Amino acid sequence: MENRRENLIHEMKSLESKGVSCSNCSGKCCTFMANSMQTTPLETVEVVNWLKEQGRIDQDLIDKLKKCIADFRLDVEISTGRNSSFRRTYTCPFFKDQSLGCSIAPEVKPYGCLGFNPKKANIVDGEDCISNIELLNERDLMFSALEQTENAKLVKELGLSWEKFPFPNALLDVMERKDLLP
Ligand code: SF4
Ligand code: SF4
Repeated sequence: MENRRENLIHEMKSLESKGVSCSNCSGKCCTFMANSMQTTPLETVEVVNWLKEQGRIDQDLIDKLKKCIADFRLDVEISTGRNSSFRRTYTCPFFKDQSLGCSIAPEVKPYGCLGFNPKKANIVDGEDCISNIELLNERDLMFSALEQTENAKLVKELGLSWEKFPFPNALLDVMERKDLLP
């Protein structure tokens, strides 16, 4: 799983080695002010399996996911016509839940999270950050065939009704279908 994120992790580490990191920032990109992360079945299952390994699937986590879905109305879809819907923003349940930043390991983190980085040092409130579309596209291109197959397999195996879902909803749905709820 890590090698499918290798170019993104490499870029993040390279920026950090130049002092360009998130260490002084309030973490705006993970809050309702800027975050609307959605994940594929494969990304979601990787996080679920990792959380299971870490012994972190417990009632506290389920309550946090449910609260996030309710607080930000992530279970209510707003259609914008032409088969598209409005992406709601939300504060990620993994933001500052265990430490100062994100508590999901880079090796399993959603691609979009890994690809979003500051452009310069000492950012304090997300004022100069950007998604590295080039690297995200490069990653997609390298693994799209494999991931399409894996995603289709998971949709079938788990009986999912989505190809991308807000991260908290996706996690809860996959945990339920894998019978992992406490
Ligand atoms: S998974 Fe981590 S980096 Fe991504 S939105 Fe949540 S807290 Fe932020
Ligand atoms: S510096 Fe940018 S990428 Fe890092 S936590 Fe702040 S807003 Fe997010």
